[in-house]
Amino acid sequence: MSSPSLRLYNTLTHETEPVEPIEDEHLRFYSCGPTVYAYAHIGNFRSFLTADLIRRTAEAIGWDVTNVSNITDVGHLTQDDLVDPGGTDKMQQALEREGERFANIYDLARHYTEAFLEDWRALNLREPEVRPRATEHVTEQLHAVIELVEAGHAYTTDQGVYFSVESVEDYGRLSGNTEAEQLEATDRDVVEDPQKRDPRDFALWKHDPDHLMHWHSPWGWGYPGWHIECSVMGMQYLGDRFDLHTGGEDLIFPHHECEIAQNRALAEHPVVNYWAHTRFLQVEGEKMSKSKGNFYTVRDLIAPDPEDTHVPDSIREQDGIDPLALRYTLMQGQYRKPFNFTLDTLHTAARHVRRYQDVADRVEEALTADADGPDRLADPLDDIYARTLAAMCDDLNTPAATAAALEGIKHIEQTDRLSGAEAQTARDWLDQTNALLGIVESEFEADAPADDAPSDALSADSLSDAIDELLADRDAARADGEYARADAIRDTLEALGIEVMDRPDGTEWARKSDLG
Ligand SMILES: [Zn+2]
Repeated sequence: MSSPSLRLYNTLTHETEPVEPIEDEHLRFYSCGPTVYAYAHIGNFRSFLTADLIRRTAEAIGWDVTNVSNITDVGHLTQDDLVDPGGTDKMQQALEREGERFANIYDLARHYTEAFLEDWRALNLREPEVRPRATEHVTEQLHAVIELVEAGHAYTTDQGVYFSVESVEDYGRLSGNTEAEQLEATDRDVVEDPQKRDPRDFALWKHDPDHLMHWHSPWGWGYPGWHIECSVMGMQYLGDRFDLHTGGEDLIFPHHECEIAQNRALAEHPVVNYWAHTRFLQVEGEKMSKSKGNFYTVRDLIAPDPEDTHVPDSIREQDGIDPLALRYTLMQGQYRKPFNFTLDTLHTAARHVRRYQDVADRVEEALTADADGPDRLADPLDDIYARTLAAMCDDLNTPAATAAALEGIKHIEQTDRLSGAEAQTARDWLDQTNALLGIVESEFEADAPADDAPSDALSADSLSDAIDELLADRDAARADGEYARADAIRDTLEALGIEVMDRPDGTEWARKSDLG
């Protein structure tokens, strides 16, 4: 059976095109990652999920994949700064907001990076081959800016270094923003600088010795513009010609438009062939916003704070939804179409994911029993997988793909007394479907270091102190009637390999291994 070819909508040409990798059967692509100043919300993850599904689909048709996805841990100017051009950037604002929690901006970035990676794994997203951090590539960015100045693509003012948009062809082709007036009217990351030659020109380097994150440069202390980071890291890891670039629709302009201009100036030819952008989602029919109360981070839904009343009761009552159900929900709309995220969809998705898990359990039992009998599943499941893959190859038609896969579940559910042969066919189909869609079981739990309990890593004394502290917290929670929090602490202790025993005269604990 020959594999279908992968087709994606290319923002650059406004057409759905077959993806033809530069290297035969090897897709190389760059995905814009998060700016790590807050917990990522479900709309952010809709975009990261698109990159994961492109990878999985390419792998399913037998291609190799090299994906680079960055972490923006450098403060940068954004649209928000238009209202306050001399003001602070997102990371600096975050530090001012959370100054008591973090000693400095690097701690803040580290905290949100780790949280982001946890969410990434919880949603069963495969790890990119390279995950470069902007702060670790500032020297390379500086070199690129110097090169652009020397080649006449950039110029300096008292405030910094700007890219000269008129020095390259095709600026505005991706976004359709071509007129200077239009650009001025559009929100963009301009810096108010009377020495700028063209309103469209954008910052490559900002002179600012007082900025919380600053580096030394030929133009004094300062920090790089946001766009240069992705040009530099993309070309460093994927070369000066690669296949595809992904990101959220908000990145089309100015970020990706500017990246294309920088790439062209640095490489002296176009660098990326296909651009894929994910639409924002709405929540319950409205734009997601904190003021409307419909703004959800991933962890609001999968591990909610029991006290946080903005999280719906139905989510808090069950201590959060299965992360695979959240993933499944985000797949109920095709990535480039508007998608309305609702609690109903989320709960329905949770039921579907549960069905996958029940079927997987039943298949496991049938494999053990290994009963004689015919294989009535091979033909229908083959056909269903072919349709699932075809839907994914058709510009990631995830609603059609998940609907097809659910037919497979129904087939298995309706087959009574699974034979050993059928159980094996069903197991293979579940594995294949999970490799493509990632909705059957987590690929991370399996290789979680279950035996590598932290008790081995911590010294006995520091572990005892930590446990005593957790137990005191738990006692306080119980005394206050906060049983959900008390239970959560017990779970934490259990994960540390500690058994908690409530006695009439107080709480005792023991290592599970000691309990034998
Ligand atoms: Zn980027």
